[in-house]
Amino acid sequence: MLVLTDPSTLHHRTTELLGSKLIPALECPERIEAIITAVQDSSSQIRTIDFESSSESDKAVLQELIQKSHDADYLEFLGNVHAEWVERGLIESTHTILPECFPLQRMSRSDEGTGKLTHPPKDIFARTGYYMYDMSAGISEGTWRSAIASANLAVQAAKYATSHHGSTPFSIMALCRPPGHHCTTRLAGGYCYINNAVVAAYALRNFHAAASTANHLKIAILDLDFHHGNGTQDYFYKDNSVLYVSIHGLDEYPYYSGASTEVGEGEGEGFNANFPLPPGSTIDEYSKALESALARIDQFNPAYLIVSLGFDTFHLDPLGSFKIETDDYRQIANQVRSHHALRNIPSMILLEGGYALDRLGTNVCTFLQGWEDTEQAE
Ligand SMILES: [Zn+2]
Repeated sequence: MLVLTDPSTLHHRTTELLGSKLIPALECPERIEAIITAVQDSSSQIRTIDFESSSESDKAVLQELIQKSHDADYLEFLGNVHAEWVERGLIESTHTILPECFPLQRMSRSDEGTGKLTHPPKDIFARTGYYMYDMSAGISEGTWRSAIASANLAVQAAKYATSHHGSTPFSIMALCRPPGHHCTTRLAGGYCYINNAVVAAYALRNFHAAASTANHLKIAILDLDFHHGNGTQDYFYKDNSVLYVSIHGLDEYPYYSGASTEVGEGEGEGFNANFPLPPGSTIDEYSKALESALARIDQFNPAYLIVSLGFDTFHLDPLGSFKIETDDYRQIANQVRSHHALRNIPSMILLEGGYALDRLGTNVCTFLQGWEDTEQAE
């Protein structure tokens, strides 16, 4: 399989508040380095993309797709806040910006549209809490460069996927970093700043050859990170052209979303499916949930599949509580790829979490090998 990476995704390095401690963020550049080292020794092929030296037209397309996915003032904040803090002497350039207080009402779906807090607060510290919902998504000097490069990998993967539509099977993986599935249109959180899966969905529509049908192009997003992708769910909650399906830890981070009762709203009702699993779940429970998730995707009959793939389901992961073992990733990949609804459609795999650094590369390669073996067997 082709695996896309961009060295600019390594600039982002932050500290986070985890439990009661302020620590170097577990979502660190070494994750990508570990994966690349392992993939170089595998049958997959690495392709390095350099967003910063890409063409003006590629940059313009990316900018347009990101602007569709996020509010303009939020993007402006992400792009400029670190330099502003440094300029005002509030932090050293090597330090991370973290919020100190939050306008909590905005976290609730029921408060949407009530007109509360429609303007960012003037105070520079308050503004950080206005655009973030937790203390894991700090902003460092390199955050914006990495977030843009990460989203660009999703866009480039979509470009490949659309150019191979009809020639089966085609799959591609993008080593996105920072990850994306937790951030919303206007809130960073859970190590996420730009929602790569959302950008990828827009990119698929943008590049899909049959432009007249592109707006109705059916896209399924299968989220296999240990944590619920609240941000991705939010984006498409009222949309019946994008099916969001997630398997994740019950009552785990991000805590306030991911229930099986969250099924979508309005036109989107029935197009959101959550499969929360209790702590300690093994491949047996996982595999059953995956079968249900795939059956739902089967019914939907998508033109493209986006997999938000996290490896924090691993039994040794510091942020997960499932009991998935290395070899199980082969089975998971096999189960997804061999499912008959997905056999003939282009698939994009976007990296989300996974924090057991010494096993991350092996786990990624085991998944990719399982996926490739399944394709070759067909
Ligand atoms: Zn996760």
